[in-house]
Amino acid sequence: TIRDDCPADSVELGRSTWTFLHTMAAYYPDKPSEKQQSDMSNFLTFFSRVYPCDYCADHMRGEMVTDKPVVTSRFGLSQWFCRLHNEVNRRQGKPEFDCSRVDERWRDGWKDGSCENPEQ
Ligand code: FAD
Repeated sequence: TIRDDCPADSVELGRSTWTFLHTMAAYYPDKPSEKQQSDMSNFLTFFSRVYPCDYCADHMRGEMVTDKPVVTSRFGLSQWFCRLHNEVNRRQGKPEFDCSRVDERWRDGWKDGSCENPEQ
């Protein structure tokens, strides 16, 4: 059974954090101001230093060197997080996520409407 009153391990922390990061990107402005861009850039730098899973944070800092965060648009940032997450998926031997569907997963719901009326 899943308990929600125990400390998070790296799996639970990861899942919750991806929800936050992908959702943050999904609602980032299409045309961010200079200030919004530098805030996001700084956030990602600081985040990658303080994320409380050392090997995850190490990996993220490495990725940020080879594939620099794209903070110039909602689309660019969402795709960048998708690529970053896919790098982790690859390392874990998990299937690659189709980045053309990132808005369906994190903002609009699947095209088949399966995220609507969940009680039905
Ligand atoms: P998660 O990988 O947490 O994914 C949650 C949901 O996101 C999925 O169900 C899927 O619907 C969606 N999703 C999957 N891939 C994508 C994508 N590419 N784009 C958009 N949505 C997607 N674990 C390690 O073992 N080693 C690491 O180096 C590592 N680094 C991490 C770095 C960061 C920044 C974070 C946030 C987590 C990291 N983790 C790492 C944790 C790992 O990514 C998973 O979160 C954890 O293993 C739980 O996996 P999960 O199967 O529940 O799904």
